[in-house]
Parts: sequence; C-alpha cells; structure tokens
Amino acid sequence: EERSSLLEEKNELIEERNIEIQQKAEALELSTRYKSEFLANMSHELRTPLNSILLLSRLMAENETMDREHQEYAEVIQSSGQGLLSLIDEILDLSKIEAGKMELDRTNVKVDEIILNMRALFNPLAKDKNLNFVVEKGAGVPEFFHTDKMRLEQIIKNLLSNAIKFTTVGKVALTIDKNEKLGALVFKVTDTGVGIAPEKQAMVFEAFQQADGSTRRKFGGTGLGLSISRELAKLLGGYIDLKSKEGEGSTFTLILPIDKNKGFDEVVASLEK
Ligand code: ADP
Repeated sequence: EERSSLLEEKNELIEERNIEIQQKAEALELSTRYKSEFLANMSHELRTPLNSILLLSRLMAENETMDREHQEYAEVIQSSGQGLLSLIDEILDLSKIEAGKMELDRTNVKVDEIILNMRALFNPLAKDKNLNFVVEKGAGVPEFFHTDKMRLEQIIKNLLSNAIKFTTVGKVALTIDKNEKLGALVFKVTDTGVGIAPEKQAMVFEAFQQADGSTRRKFGGTGLGLSISRELAKLLGGYIDLKSKEGEGSTFTLILPIDKNKGFDEVVASLEK
C-alpha cells in the first residue's frame, strides 16, 4: 500500500519534471528564433548606411581634384567599411545557418570558371606577399559540377585567404581532383605557413575561435570563417578535413559528393566523435 503511493508520488514528480523540461526546450527554441530574426534584421539595417559610406568613400578616394592626404583618408574609410561589411555578412550567414534558414541555389557550375575566379582574386594577394600561388585541376574532374556556386566559392575563398594570411614564405596551392571511390570532388588548399598545433585543430572550426587567442595576436580576423565554411560544406553534403603541422603548413580538404544525394553522413559522424 505504502509502496504504491510512494511510486505514484515519484511518477507525479517525473511527470512534472518532464513538463518543465519541455517548457524550457520550447523557451530555448523561441529565444534562438528571436536571436536569429534580430540578427537578420540588424544586419539589414546596418548594411544600408554602410553601403552609402562605401560608395561615397570610393568616390572620394578616386576624386583627382582632392589632395592626396584626403584621398588616403577616404581609402582607409573604404577598407574599414569593407571589413565591417564582411563581418556583418558572416554574422548573417551564421545566424541563417543556426536558424536552419540557409537556402542553397544549385546550378550546373563550370569548374574552370571557379578556377578562373580564384586566380583573379588571389593572384594579386599572393603576389603582394611574394608567395607562389598555383591552381591545378586533375584529369578526371568533370567539366560541370552541380552545386551552389556562391557557397562553394565562399568556402574556397575563406580557405585561400586564410592560407595566404597565415603564410609568409613559400607556396599556396588549390588543387581540384575527382575521387572515384567516394564519388566526390576534392578541393585541397595547401600552404607552407605557420601551421596549427594538434590540440587546436578542432577548435579552429568553432565560431569566434582562433589558434592564437591572445589579445596581442599578429593576425586580424573574426574566427567566423572556418565555422561558416564547415557548416556550408555540411549543407552541400560534404565535409572539411584538416591536416597541419606547426611551423610547416596546413592542408584543408573540402570533400563534396558529385551526386548531392550521396552524402558522407557516416564519415562526418565519425569525424565529429
Ligand atoms: P579568422 O581567419 O577570421 O581568424 P577562421 O575561422 O577563418 O577565422 O580561422 C580561425 C583560426 O584558424 C585562425 O584565426 C587561425 O588561428 C587558424 N587558421 C585558419 N587557417 C589557417 C591556416 N591556413 N594556417 C594556420 N592557421 C590557420
């Protein structure tokens, strides 16, 4: 008799706790949604005035009737504004991904066009730092790849700009190959830069994390690029792998399925363990 009433009491307590947990989960979901909506709206509101700043500072920087000193001020406004714009874009991307609202736009993308774009963007940057920059395509790579061009280029751009940023001498390479066994295209970004210590390799994919966490660190940046890239790779059905040795360099490998329906869920799951 006594035991069964004790049991009943316990069950009631469990039931109460379950309701509490459910309510908390709902509140959390709601606040996550509010946060994402807030960030999306804020990004939009920040962008509009920033676009005027960018446009007008560019006109001033290019205005030959202005004296050199003031043209230079306008250039600083221009590049700071650009930095702010990329930060806003990154925060917006991350909030879209978190809210599950990042939509892909897949088309038939010409692989050679990606190569052309990356060369045009990064040749000048590599040249500025006296780095050898090469882009190579393997023989088996198909002419077209069905994917989201903007997002794929966003990932590669992020990997290449990191590679150039964290390398002072040597070489940065982008290679594209087909992996027959995986049914995948493999984009490899290799550098001969500072490298990443083994214990920091997982961390660099977390939002706002940088291998050099000190406030006096040498390199700028937000620590958002790789976490966005990793999430985008996942959305595209693939994943990013990292091999690196401190003082020698890093290789970031982006592996994407050629058939979007054949992802690598198992590989990804085993990587995340
Ligand atoms: P950010 O470059 O804005 O700091 P990322 O998310 O792109 O943000 O990179 C996070 C961190 O990972 C960098 O701050 C750096 O410490 C490390 N990292 C990324 N790419 C490289 C690389 N190619 N070589 C060495 N370290 C790198």
